[in-house]
Amino acid sequence: MKQAIILAGGAGTRLKDRLGDLPKPMIPIAGKPLLEHQVELAKAHGFIDLVFFVHYRADLIENHFGDGSKWGVRIRYVTEREPLGTAGAVLAGSELLGERFVVLYGDTMVNVDLGRIWKAHENAKADATLLLHPNDHPLDSDLVEMDANSRVLAFHNRPHPQGRWYQNLVNAGLYVLEKGALLKHAPAVTPHASHITDFGKDIFPAMVRGGATLLGYNSPEFIKDIGTPARYDRVCAQFANGTIARSSLATPQRAVFLDRDGTLVHDRDCLRSADGLELLPGVSAAVHDLNHHAWRTVVVTNQPVIAKGWCDEAELQRMHNKMETLLGLEHAFLDRIYYCPHHPDAGFEGERRELKIRCDCRKPGIGMIQKAVADLNIDLAQSWMIGDTTTDMQTAKNAGLKSILVRTGAGGGDGKQAATPDFVCDDLQAAVKLILEQDAKSADRR
Ligand SMILES: [Zn+2]
Repeated sequence: MKQAIILAGGAGTRLKDRLGDLPKPMIPIAGKPLLEHQVELAKAHGFIDLVFFVHYRADLIENHFGDGSKWGVRIRYVTEREPLGTAGAVLAGSELLGERFVVLYGDTMVNVDLGRIWKAHENAKADATLLLHPNDHPLDSDLVEMDANSRVLAFHNRPHPQGRWYQNLVNAGLYVLEKGALLKHAPAVTPHASHITDFGKDIFPAMVRGGATLLGYNSPEFIKDIGTPARYDRVCAQFANGTIARSSLATPQRAVFLDRDGTLVHDRDCLRSADGLELLPGVSAAVHDLNHHAWRTVVVTNQPVIAKGWCDEAELQRMHNKMETLLGLEHAFLDRIYYCPHHPDAGFEGERRELKIRCDCRKPGIGMIQKAVADLNIDLAQSWMIGDTTTDMQTAKNAGLKSILVRTGAGGGDGKQAATPDFVCDDLQAAVKLILEQDAKSADRR
């Protein structure tokens, strides 16, 4: 029986005039307590063994949910007498924990395909899996660093030093945990305040230090806290307009695939270091528009500089961290960045022979697009590709994407491939405007 535990002890002081006597997890969203949305989500993904960690007005929560049978689940309760922090509470009630369980925060509106993250956790044989997502204000967020295999390497808390670039990945507050690993690493944790231990601040950093396997699960799915009146109102509006319902990866997603050099950043002949990377004008605003309209933004870029030995993976990562940081300064983010490190022509000095191969990821091959489809459940028939070369246009055609050629960068004058674009625009901003207009037109027809 799959288990989910829900941390539902919050009082919601900053929401007092909306809540009255109610505890924070009981705040209504579309006429139903927030916590009830979570119970239904858990049930929908086969999690029927639920444990609620309650504190403030526990009586109101227990009266509403009882033993859970009305929702087809089993609910048990652990009452926290004094505040112990998120992890402290769970450790204190550890006798009710199964071997593996999902952790949800009862003050967040969530629409995550829980079965999918559970499976990713199992496949990776991880000790803990953390749902991570890019956000629109990375500079003042605590950031998580992970490697190419999605293993969490470090936590970088704000304030961030000047001139260092990090991946835009934030701990969203949803986990899959192995009980054994939690109990093994908990004794090494020093509470950050007297008796208070949190998962994010204390437990996960201790697990990384102790050599545990933490998987970063990068997902665009909806998860937001409702801690202030403004955030609460926004979540209610997003519920009403369908944004939350569409965000789950159980639902096919729409994406805009973006070329990098000449489309997002200045095309400097074979960019080899982060220092030379600069966004093209208007790019942040364009990406932000896509974010705002819930299009998944996915970069697909050929980087033969790796195979040629001109730049290594670490420097390429720095470049991409810088690109994400520059976008983040203007509240824009990318859902994924995929690159092909290969190149087909061998026989040059300094090259990396193992990467000099004919691969299926180098555009116009569609390996990177297929990887994105697998990672983000993308519906290609509803998706677009924007790029500055005939190779991008051929990639779009090969993958069944609608295409837009931008006149920045090569502007389609490279003559390498035969495919012609569906549309031509001056730059990324014009291309995004066109996509949003086309979408509005087809919405009118629907
Ligand atoms: Zn490749």
